[in-house]
Amino acid sequence: MCGIAGVFNVANAQNLVANILFSIQHRGQESCGISVRTESGNVLTYKGMGLVKHVLLPQILEKYSGKIAIGHVRYPTAGKSNVVNSQPHSIELAEGAHMSVCSNGDIINYSELRNELETEHGFTFKSDNDGELIGRLIAFHHVVHKKPIAEAIFETQQQLKGAFSTVLIYRDTMYGFRDPHAFRPFSIGHISWDGEGEMPSEGTVFASESCAFGIVGARHVRDLEPGEIVKLEKSKPMSVVKISPKKRQHCVFELIYFSRPDSELFDEYVYDVRNKIGATLARMDNDIPAGDDLVVISVPDSSNFVALGYAEEKKVRFDMGLLRNHYVGRTFTRPDQAQRDEGVRQKFNPLPGFFKGKRVILVDDSIVRGTTLKKIVSMVRGAGAKEIHVRIGSPRVIGSCYYGIDTPTSNELIAAQKSLEEITAYLKADSLKYTPVDAFQSILKHFNRYCFACFNLDYIYQPADFSIPTKRVN
Ligand code: SF4
Repeated sequence: MCGIAGVFNVANAQNLVANILFSIQHRGQESCGISVRTESGNVLTYKGMGLVKHVLLPQILEKYSGKIAIGHVRYPTAGKSNVVNSQPHSIELAEGAHMSVCSNGDIINYSELRNELETEHGFTFKSDNDGELIGRLIAFHHVVHKKPIAEAIFETQQQLKGAFSTVLIYRDTMYGFRDPHAFRPFSIGHISWDGEGEMPSEGTVFASESCAFGIVGARHVRDLEPGEIVKLEKSKPMSVVKISPKKRQHCVFELIYFSRPDSELFDEYVYDVRNKIGATLARMDNDIPAGDDLVVISVPDSSNFVALGYAEEKKVRFDMGLLRNHYVGRTFTRPDQAQRDEGVRQKFNPLPGFFKGKRVILVDDSIVRGTTLKKIVSMVRGAGAKEIHVRIGSPRVIGSCYYGIDTPTSNELIAAQKSLEEITAYLKADSLKYTPVDAFQSILKHFNRYCFACFNLDYIYQPADFSIPTKRVN
């Protein structure tokens, strides 16, 4: 998972891009970068390891000034964790010009396409990142087959299998395009810019999530259609180059966990879906007797709205028993287990005295490996809870993701390896319930537009080495 941003026709676009990236920092905390088309006509790129506030400093942004800019925040799903793999990627073209590209997603046929470019066409890669592959394929169609950039994008779009929400700067033009299944979110906004010393202008804003628009004073216009390519040119309204959709496969995990609750995506309000998940879980849950000692708490922040929905439906007190340190990032997106464990200890702390003698309904959004939740259950028990009933907003995660989320192999997915009773015992919880796939689907406006593959193994594309998890337990 990563986040992308683009701003077109706004003075000091780099500042707005940095603000958008800051607002979608939850989508990637490992590295970030920007590319800016300067007044002199160059496209300059600056990137580094770390958070937006540490990399895109005001003195840097001052030097990278222009009206057209794109940017990226990365968390690694494929490829090493280093600055070479950070985005945007600057791609040279034959006529001396170059373009800059950044993308969110994962390409299933990455190795095959890269191999073809390297061995048959003499291309050289700097990184092992799929954003660079997208850029080099476009360069291939543009330079070797003499296709205009828009057509080169279309040809590339047809070759790629997987997820990609992508922005690109070429000369004084910006493109935004999305894979034909629309796995990852991609929103378009409009901004009226008052000038700040320059002529007022009307600009266009791209962002992975619509929550960014309010933050930069833009208005959410719409989302890119599956397979859509849009083009932004000076003094012209945004034009649609082409739309080549296939069966929609929006990632349902975006609604459960990844996206911010103040975003609107896939024709849903994220907070509203989470609220409904909680209410649905509560309606299925008739085993816990009511009482003044019963309290619903969330594992903050992504399960807050699920817990709230549960508590409202059940008419049980909702409270914030666990405090989250907001200076600790998302533990799920950390590259190794030791860092994730350390992150959990730093991140959550029980309120002193709060849990003593209480029966707790502990609501979390999902369980992947189970290691984080086990620590939280132990923390809540240690703080005095007499019963802990774990309720999970998602269905059971039984398969890996190949479309941009770094879920581990099925050997590490607890629900692919253990039965419900075994997971309950592992967590040391008094009871455990998940939201079943069909109940989850009944919440969504268009359930058949979603990918549920990590819950039901119904993958639209599978990698060459894919096999059904051997120890799958229903
Ligand atoms: S497999 Fe799961 S995480 Fe990956 S795109 Fe599908 S729903 Fe999202």
